Amino acid sequence: MKAKPADYGKNLRVNRSAKHGRGVYATAPIPRAAKVIEYVGKLVPVKDSDGIAEKQMTRAGKSGTGHVYLFTLNKRYDIDGNVPWNKARLINHSCDPNCEAQIIQGRIWVTAKRKIAAGEELTYDYGFNMDSWQEHVCRCGTAKCLGYIVSASRRGALARVLKKKQTQDANPVMR
Ligand SMILES: [Zn+2]
Repeated sequence: MKAKPADYGKNLRVNRSAKHGRGVYATAPIPRAAKVIEYVGKLVPVKDSDGIAEKQMTRAGKSGTGHVYLFTLNKRYDIDGNVPWNKARLINHSCDPNCEAQIIQGRIWVTAKRKIAAGEELTYDYGFNMDSWQEHVCRCGTAKCLGYIVSASRRGALARVLKKKQTQDANPVMR
């Protein structure tokens, strides 16, 4: 296998995004499978994590900005990436992302799912479950998008919910 530079963090730039607030963009091409940027933050014992996640989720829903920045690192610790020195926290969600988050040797890395061109915005799947999906509108604009941020594994479930909702809206029930 061809050796790849360990980290493409220097080839990234933060800018306004059409998807949501700010985004992170590649300034040079990034090869498939490369480590793009490490997702850093505070180590949080797993037992404290739910409380933090709940607060972040509420804030995200209310303001329409931000999201949950917690990543499962191992059985004992999560990483709370909601810190200013974590540039990776600004990466937006996409329903057809070009990056993914992976644990590599005890660290969380955002890696390239495919070749990324210079100027492309980096995205990954936030992996949200179906809790309060209505509050997390997605503007990724990809063909796979259902308009809300849920993980790829839940998109089928969301599609069913949306279909049902549509049918209900089309056939109002008399009261
Ligand atoms: Zn989307």
